[in-house]
Amino acid sequence: MNELLDNKVYLNAEYLPLSEAKVSVLDRGFLFGDGVYEMIPSYAGRLFRLQDHLDRLQTSLEQIRLEFSCDLETWQGIINPLLDPEKNQAIYLQITRGIAPLRDHPFPENPNPTVFVMCSEIKPFPGLETGVKALTMEDSRWEMCHVKATTLLANVLLKQEAKEQGCAEAILTKNGYVTEGATSNLFTLIKGKIVTPEKTSEILPGITRKVILELARNNSMPVSEARISVDELQSASEIWISSSTREIIPVVELDSKQVGDGKPGPVWQKMNQLFQQYKSSV
Ligand code: PLP
Repeated sequence: MNELLDNKVYLNAEYLPLSEAKVSVLDRGFLFGDGVYEMIPSYAGRLFRLQDHLDRLQTSLEQIRLEFSCDLETWQGIINPLLDPEKNQAIYLQITRGIAPLRDHPFPENPNPTVFVMCSEIKPFPGLETGVKALTMEDSRWEMCHVKATTLLANVLLKQEAKEQGCAEAILTKNGYVTEGATSNLFTLIKGKIVTPEKTSEILPGITRKVILELARNNSMPVSEARISVDELQSASEIWISSSTREIIPVVELDSKQVGDGKPGPVWQKMNQLFQQYKSSV
């Protein structure tokens, strides 16, 4: 923890140790969760799919009507001093609508956004080779899940419940179909085809998801984006979850029942290999 506090971070055009980075208690991020964020992986100092992350950030900003723009070169200039070429890192970038003087819900007249960037080391995820357990839970989130908003209370509660039940992820369901994980996108193998829920406002359009779809299509692996029922999920021969910090993780047990033969499946093995190759080639 102490080591973390010495980490250099960026806050409103200044670089300083994490322990010295302070924002006002009137910040709307603190009071209302009125902000958006991104989590960008960096492998040995190289930012992975930066343009995709910035495009999604721009969409999130537009969706919450926060006027803020910054081009790729400027973001690179901000982030680069925080990168360590010896490490794999997760870059957390957050923009809030600045302060709300009277704790007024409507936007301030001239918002002065708070911009914060920090990095932490990505360690290989322990469940990558063995697979993880997951459980299904009712999706209790709001209706704008395509926005990467800092307002994450529902995700926090879902994830805590999963943890208390010995699971690495909560797979969310809504009206009999599946949306995504509490902190990840979802992939299944149904009748030999990779199927992931289609892009709607009910899921975050994950960058790892996008890369997996590209890799599948470029390598002639059958794949589709479609609605998945809970019954289909339960009978899928493989289930994976994907995110920038954990990559592609096989789920080997769902709701205390074995998925497939209870081991990471062959299609996951192939996709993980393609993903690892791709990662080191860009
Ligand atoms: N869906 C949710 C709800 C998430 O929180 C995340 C990542 O944190 C993802 C999907 C995966 O997105 P990405 O692959 O861009 O990390």
